[in-house]
Amino acid sequence: RRDTLLYLDGVTKSFDGFKAINNLSLVIQKGEMRAIIGPNGAGKTTMMDIITGKTRPDEGEVYFAGDVDLTKQDEAAIANMGIGRKFQKPTVFESHTVADNIRMSLAGSRSIFAALLHRDSAGERQTVADILETTRLTAKAGTLAADLSHGQKQWLEIGMLLAQDPELLLVDEPVAGMTDAETEETARLLREIARTRSVVVVEHDMHFVRALDVKVTCLHEGSVLSEGTLDHVSADPRVVEVYLGR
Ligand code: ADP
Repeated sequence: RRDTLLYLDGVTKSFDGFKAINNLSLVIQKGEMRAIIGPNGAGKTTMMDIITGKTRPDEGEVYFAGDVDLTKQDEAAIANMGIGRKFQKPTVFESHTVADNIRMSLAGSRSIFAALLHRDSAGERQTVADILETTRLTAKAGTLAADLSHGQKQWLEIGMLLAQDPELLLVDEPVAGMTDAETEETARLLREIARTRSVVVVEHDMHFVRALDVKVTCLHEGSVLSEGTLDHVSADPRVVEVYLGR
């Protein structure tokens, strides 16, 4: 309980009578990285929406850091509490450099002027340098975000989230559209991040999930179908049926 960062129990959410999330329970430990898999419509996006406060569950408990009831918080409050979310499509500021994108995020501002005011602190320079290194973008610091590859833009967006220093990072299909090399690098990068933070990754790419080498939860029809190592989950007859029966 003490080591639990995120706790969902009996969570249900219906849309027009259809249960997108159905009695879902999930526990993420402090410092854990978890991969969430499951076919389209399994409820992965709705689950992330519930954690971030974008969607309110009809029933069930959602607790963060022990005693914070997330169902009573709005989206902005949850983000400020240290839950960062990366959506599938990168949303970097194309007309700014890579480093300035990180600085803007550090300043908690969409304004380059606010970011420039923060520029002189040595601590912040070090933080920017650390984030650039973690996200494999040190050599691209002065490059316009528009000139990055698709994979690098995804890494930059992860870096922008890191600038907000989240305790829990939710990442939605980070390797969609990446090259094989970028995909492998992303697995290494997320493993490094997960040394100091908890990470929940929704992903379809099973090569990538294998490279992450973490506990896997397979969702189906809004609840947990199978949980364990990737080998365990992918050999589970119920999982095989859900994927092959389609
Ligand atoms: P996944 O991300 O695993 O593909 P989703 O969470 O997007 O699954 O969707 C789960 C189910 O809930 C789907 O059947 C989807 O059509 C339905 N759903 C999700 N959001 C809404 C909504 N806002 N209104 C109506 N139905 C929704």
